[in-house]
Amino acid sequence: MSKHLIAATILIALAGCATVQMRIDEVKPGCGADRPFAEGGERATLWIRTSAEFRASAEGIYRSALQGLRQGLADATWSAEATQTGDISSMPPAVVMDIDDTVLDNSAPQARMLLATACPGDFDVLWDAWVAERAAPTVPGATAFIRAAREMKDPQGRPVRVFLITNRACGTRPGVTSACPQQDDTLANLRALGLDTSTLDDDLMLNGERPEWVSEKLPRRQLVARDYRIVLNVGDDLADFIPDVRQQSQVEREQARCRHHGWWGARWFVIPNPMYGSWQRVLGPDLDAALAQSSIPSACGETG
Ligand SMILES: [Mg+2]
Repeated sequence: MSKHLIAATILIALAGCATVQMRIDEVKPGCGADRPFAEGGERATLWIRTSAEFRASAEGIYRSALQGLRQGLADATWSAEATQTGDISSMPPAVVMDIDDTVLDNSAPQARMLLATACPGDFDVLWDAWVAERAAPTVPGATAFIRAAREMKDPQGRPVRVFLITNRACGTRPGVTSACPQQDDTLANLRALGLDTSTLDDDLMLNGERPEWVSEKLPRRQLVARDYRIVLNVGDDLADFIPDVRQQSQVEREQARCRHHGWWGARWFVIPNPMYGSWQRVLGPDLDAALAQSSIPSACGETG
């Protein structure tokens, strides 16, 4: 049986499980010179989808994030945005969060792409189809965190506003008239998880929603920081916290991490994502070579 027939058979077997099933005609015959998009991601995706360890980890991080939020709310000089300077004590408080694999769990499309041996060129179509389903479940602990954060206030009685800064990109979709159907889908997905609030439309900031809102998230964080004291940031990628890291080497990324050593687990909270991210981009396409050359970085402040 060919690999693709095996994949199709698996998909049929999963037909009762709406989170992974995929039409057989979406199974691709091969990627030509390219390697499959999610190649090598089986263990990582299974860890996210099945392990108690991931759920315990994510829930624990979100529980710690609430403690960090309490601490930050009590200190009017506290900011979780490195570029936010000056007197911020009169500003109302805010939390900024990434969405994908921080609030919404996208392990289902990862599983689909693995099972279908999707090619790099297939990604945009498959991803947009997933967004259009509006069916992403929550990352463990995320929805409870957002609801609790919105209930919290600073010492002046001002409530916390939660901004969701996502690189889900606005784009046209065949047969859809909306200028940004991905915004409508994401709002619907968040509302289905019980995360609606009167400002949700404005709280959600997509890539491309405005011309200056690009994949580098700093301009969007700085827009929030003009009017709000950013008390906490939650994401799953170094680029959710620190600008210009996507093209950096592993050494440079480590240096960037260490420059903010005291902020991790205090103002910045990272949800583990072994499925994909800018960490993987720096490794290049040959994962075996990257593995052979890999070494564990020193702890911040240590050498050798
Ligand atoms: Mg993310």
